Amino acid sequence: MRSPIDAAILGHFVPATAGLANHAVEAAHGAFLKWRCVPAPLRGELVRCIGNKIRLRKTALARLITLEAGKICSEAEGEVQECIDICDFAVGLARQLHGLTIASERPKHRMMEQWQPLGAVGIITSFNFPMAVWAWNAMLGLVCGDAVVWKPSEKAPLCAIALQRLVEEAIDEMNDTIPAHVCQLILGEHEAGERIASHPLLPLISATGSSRMGRVVAQTVAARLGRVLLELGGNNALIVTPSANLDMALQAIVFAAVGTAGQRCTTLRRLIVHESLIDQFAERLVQGFDNVPIGHPSDDGVLLGPLIDADAYWAMQQALQAAEQQGGQRLTGGQRVEQGVPLNGFYVRPALIRVAGNLDIVREETFAPILYLMPYAELDDAIELNNAVSQGLSSAIFTDSVREAEAFLGPAGSDCGIANVNIGTSGAEIGAAFGGEKDTGGGREAGSDAWKNYMRRTTNTINYGSELTLAQGVRFTL
Ligand code: NAD
Repeated sequence: MRSPIDAAILGHFVPATAGLANHAVEAAHGAFLKWRCVPAPLRGELVRCIGNKIRLRKTALARLITLEAGKICSEAEGEVQECIDICDFAVGLARQLHGLTIASERPKHRMMEQWQPLGAVGIITSFNFPMAVWAWNAMLGLVCGDAVVWKPSEKAPLCAIALQRLVEEAIDEMNDTIPAHVCQLILGEHEAGERIASHPLLPLISATGSSRMGRVVAQTVAARLGRVLLELGGNNALIVTPSANLDMALQAIVFAAVGTAGQRCTTLRRLIVHESLIDQFAERLVQGFDNVPIGHPSDDGVLLGPLIDADAYWAMQQALQAAEQQGGQRLTGGQRVEQGVPLNGFYVRPALIRVAGNLDIVREETFAPILYLMPYAELDDAIELNNAVSQGLSSAIFTDSVREAEAFLGPAGSDCGIANVNIGTSGAEIGAAFGGEKDTGGGREAGSDAWKNYMRRTTNTINYGSELTLAQGVRFTL
């Protein structure tokens, strides 16, 4: 594999064979059978230990993300911080995996729900969050009593190997209460992902990546009646209304559109601006885009590092061409940058394209810094534009009107999993559930009650009387 910074070879990895992958899944399943009986707060101790190890090596791990995924330092450190935060969250959660007690209609009966460990969980992750997505899934899975089988992106295996080493160190240090094989790593390309998606010993597959990948995985897992947790592509929009604080909006828009070189699932891709201010705002945006510091992601002050690879660059060029053919007007950007950046990396100027509405190309997620700018007249039209794409991950409105904000957040408002007011589309916190609707896959990860995905619910009815009373008044004699 190569670094996106300068295409330098970072190493070679040998994909796991089918036999090796199967062995890893079986080992994880065996570990699960023991792990599920370890009390949850003790499971939390393992996660605490993993979190401490990540905390101690935060800078080195962030450097690895920069090297392998091309993220600027502050974003790479932010990603490692997310791993630390989810560990802390999971440790607390280990004492809160509680169910309900429910009133029974029968005398001397009690009903309750319990949340039980589910099994070994298959985790397939994307290149753009090579550490955090694993942590969101694995740390919750571990406190829930599950084992973990991780298939990272083939573009970021070093990040995965580094984290796996820390997990193994933590397991070694925590004496023999921890089954050794509770966290497994399988390196490989899509075939490795397909293998774990079809494995009957993995009751849940959590898959993060493109909607195309999600469709394949969902069908494979459905064929064996397994469960999926899907975190797929986004096509996120932001509405700027006449009452918005435009300075604040501008800053939020530029970061949301160009952060991680437009390669976040929550990247801002569509900007819907009121017709009364679109011309004036477009000028400010062009200026903002043209001033974005582009360069080596480790250099101070750089906001826009490289695209992941040549394929990403050519996909961006094709999208720009299609946008112009479909009537879009390029206001700025899109060119490759070759001066002042490392050789052989794919560095680009962020592109701003004015369009009349959701052109065909606008409906697609192009994983690059391209922002489509479109006008609206009435708020209902803006919300309709926001919703009229197949993806449904993140969305935002900038407004000082409580009516507009609440309309956007209400039942006829944004249809996305994330709807924000006066803040951009990217940069979610781990305390809340994260995920989106429609082609984004419907999954929710990280905070809130996302932990329930990693457990199975049992309903228990307990009769503490001396008579058998059937539900719904049913009687019979023998
Ligand atoms: P990708 O779909 O190319 O690959 C993601 C992972 O899936 C990789 O590990 C890959 O090997 C594996 N994979 C590919 N095809 C597979 C198959 N048929 N069966 C099983 N596994 C398969 O995505 P990517 O380029 O790494 O990441 C970018 C995409 O991920 C974007 O669409 C982005 O929006 C999405 N993403 C979504 C979220 C979210 O939370 N919604 C977060 C990050 C990234």
